[in-house]
Amino acid sequence: MSLPARITDAISQLRKQPSPICAYVYDLVALERHIQTIRESLPANCELFYAAKANPEAQILQTLVPFVDGFEAASGGELRWLHQQCPGTPLIFGGPGKLESELETAMEYQISAFHVESVNELRSLAQIAARCGRKAPVMLRLNLTLDEAPDSRLVMGGKATPFGLDEFALDEALALLRDEPWLAFQGLHFHLLSHQLDVDAHLRLIRSYFRTFHKLCLEHRLLLPMINVGGGMGINYQDHHRSFDWPGFCTKLSALIIEEDMATTQIRFEIGRFISAACGYYLMQVLDIKRNHGQYFAIGRGGTHHFRTPAAQNHNHPFDVIRGHQPAEIVNQPVTLVGQLCTPKDVLAKQQPVTELAVGDILVFTLAGAYAWNISHRDFLMHEPPQMVFLKQ
Ligand SMILES: *Cc1c(COP(=O)(O)O)cnc(C)c1O
Repeated sequence: MSLPARITDAISQLRKQPSPICAYVYDLVALERHIQTIRESLPANCELFYAAKANPEAQILQTLVPFVDGFEAASGGELRWLHQQCPGTPLIFGGPGKLESELETAMEYQISAFHVESVNELRSLAQIAARCGRKAPVMLRLNLTLDEAPDSRLVMGGKATPFGLDEFALDEALALLRDEPWLAFQGLHFHLLSHQLDVDAHLRLIRSYFRTFHKLCLEHRLLLPMINVGGGMGINYQDHHRSFDWPGFCTKLSALIIEEDMATTQIRFEIGRFISAACGYYLMQVLDIKRNHGQYFAIGRGGTHHFRTPAAQNHNHPFDVIRGHQPAEIVNQPVTLVGQLCTPKDVLAKQQPVTELAVGDILVFTLAGAYAWNISHRDFLMHEPPQMVFLKQ
């Protein structure tokens, strides 16, 4: 993958600084184009929310605001942050173990939906809503056994996990929703997996969400306006061209909506990784190169305490090399790219071939805009944080 000129120009600017480069660079122009394309392909009765936990940087949120229906918060902290950074943007609130104080804050913000994860939470919410004298909009997150068992590395339901409600808790939850005057039942929520690369498999999963929705509405005589089908569209880190085919998915989704009689139901997506991954780059300047026990190691400024993605995914993260002025120390050889931490786990890519590499070169890790800086153990070893660069043109 060749780097966009906007990125190489930014790197030339960063090179003028006296100290070695360690930075995140975000291409907000590319992000805006990407979210616009995602939005444009969506069928008419679909809404798009951004799952902020993928990357909650203020500038990312602000770039997305005009193109999304709102943001999904997965904690009270995110909820407050989103409310502060993008006042007036609709918010939805999910995640297990919500504090009562967080439910109260969410009531105060008049959020668009509570994704209720348990019967206890539903009870607390009913009491809090009654105290506020305002109805709480509820989406019930389900963890049912589906015909279409999802197959992915990160599965959150259809088996024993802490997320959502099991079949046996459903009757109790539905009784509460029927009897509690301060709960406004809006619909059902499903988010069963991440890292989905297969469009047809994802459509089969969504078809089983749709059928479950109809079945429950029929069995329990419910008229629900909405279904939330989660996120989870995957990035192929080894070959980005084979990431989730969003336009292809949307075309087939339109047909599925008709087939499954869902055209009058509001369908909501809450997508994280697929929206923000590609706009981020993590840069490390090579500080040292050595050969230990027959293998080359390049040590860059920074490491997995800034960029935990390769460790979290247990993969070799894709990268480009921008050559500096030193003669190459490694030529057409594999090299392991590591950071500055005193742990053998601080590896970003293992024994990957490079044509040329020298001290002073810049390692540019691509697809670093989601679950990257914000999932990293940034205080470990007390290194300086990376510089943050946001490119708006
Ligand atoms: C994390 C999460 C998402 C977003 O997942 P991605 O894989 O980043 O698209 C959506 N919904 C819920 C409930 C989540 O926990």
